[in-house]
Amino acid sequence: MTQPYTSATESHEASMLSRKFGQEIVNYFSSSPLNRVSFLRSNTAFLRAALPRSKFLLLRDLEPLAASKTTLAWVGYETVRTLVGSPFDTEQEEFLRGYDSRVEIPTLVFLGIDEGVVGGGQGSGDGERFEFEGEGGKYVGRPCFALDVTDKGSLGEECRKVQEEAVEGAEGREFRKVKLDLSLAPPDAAIFAQARSLLDWNNRNQFCSACGARTVSTNAGTKRTCPPSDKALQKNPEDPPFERPPCVSRKGIHNIAFPRTDPTVIMAIINSTGDKVLLGRQRRWPKDFYSTLAGFCEPAESVEDAVRRETWEESGVHVGRVVIHSTQPWPYPASLMMGAIGEARPDGEGIVLKHDPELEDAQWVEFGQVRRALEGNTGTPEVEVEGAAEGQLRLPPSTAIAHQLLLAVVNGFHLAKP
Ligand SMILES: [Zn+2]
Repeated sequence: MTQPYTSATESHEASMLSRKFGQEIVNYFSSSPLNRVSFLRSNTAFLRAALPRSKFLLLRDLEPLAASKTTLAWVGYETVRTLVGSPFDTEQEEFLRGYDSRVEIPTLVFLGIDEGVVGGGQGSGDGERFEFEGEGGKYVGRPCFALDVTDKGSLGEECRKVQEEAVEGAEGREFRKVKLDLSLAPPDAAIFAQARSLLDWNNRNQFCSACGARTVSTNAGTKRTCPPSDKALQKNPEDPPFERPPCVSRKGIHNIAFPRTDPTVIMAIINSTGDKVLLGRQRRWPKDFYSTLAGFCEPAESVEDAVRRETWEESGVHVGRVVIHSTQPWPYPASLMMGAIGEARPDGEGIVLKHDPELEDAQWVEFGQVRRALEGNTGTPEVEVEGAAEGQLRLPPSTAIAHQLLLAVVNGFHLAKP
């Protein structure tokens, strides 16, 4: 048997890299406990065997079925059988040859194999163990899928039935809005992030961006394909498959057919004397809420360049050296936040908000004040903090990479090791 895979980073005291660079920061939404086995997504023999032995995470309008504030809920194949059917009984090529754009197919995404790290909750049949002998060895665990059960289109009624059955008799189970409070336990949050990003991407890419024709989900939900033919366009059922016009997306590797991940920079900028950090406030945030600056990377721009450009555009501050600290996937909808720490140039610390009026305010804030807020006054901009004193700096919670960046600088990330 192959050794169970884990992406979770333990702090290896003995690691050469940890000795030099410090412990790896594992941000919220990252380090899923599932083994994604991405190479098995196109293996129909694997998918066919796995499906009836899998557990399913249901999402309605991109919100997950949860057992509680902290835990996702899973259902077994029995609950979703009528909706899902047996999509992997036909090989992918054959499936595409028989494609019919009139038939709606539920969005089902293979997430990976649970090798035993995460509990599944009631009704998930978690004791089950599935084995698959692949080229590289044996893969063992519980296969996991995400399934969109949003009540819409011709599948609406079937989706409603699945929703009802999934919550029936299981107290506390509900489709939860999890964005506002970030309360899911970290392993569950990471699984949800993958599920949400992929279902959302499938929903948004129903049509080919190269030729405009309908696309269909392939590779177990991780690719969209522009099928070469469509039965809906056939005049007589006996005719050969109706060929669609040629499409560039059918040849070679095209990023128009794969899920996107949008690189974003987020940065804690310190002043040149290393005792203050630059914080900004967006117009829509509550009055005392501040955070680090952030923005999207542009095409043909390095992360370091994007940090310098975004900081200057939003705050007028000129940044010199930039160091990457850690990264965080952010599934709203598909960002990868690259957290950096940068140093302002001594002659470029003046704040100018008028280049790009995105921020209502930006300020240099002393480390002491930042430390106090990190310890006692954090929250998301959307959620009221109980007992928060008016006029006191409020910062993002520890689940946000902004918090981790600020924590790093007030703890002396930028100082030479003694
Ligand atoms: Zn196309």
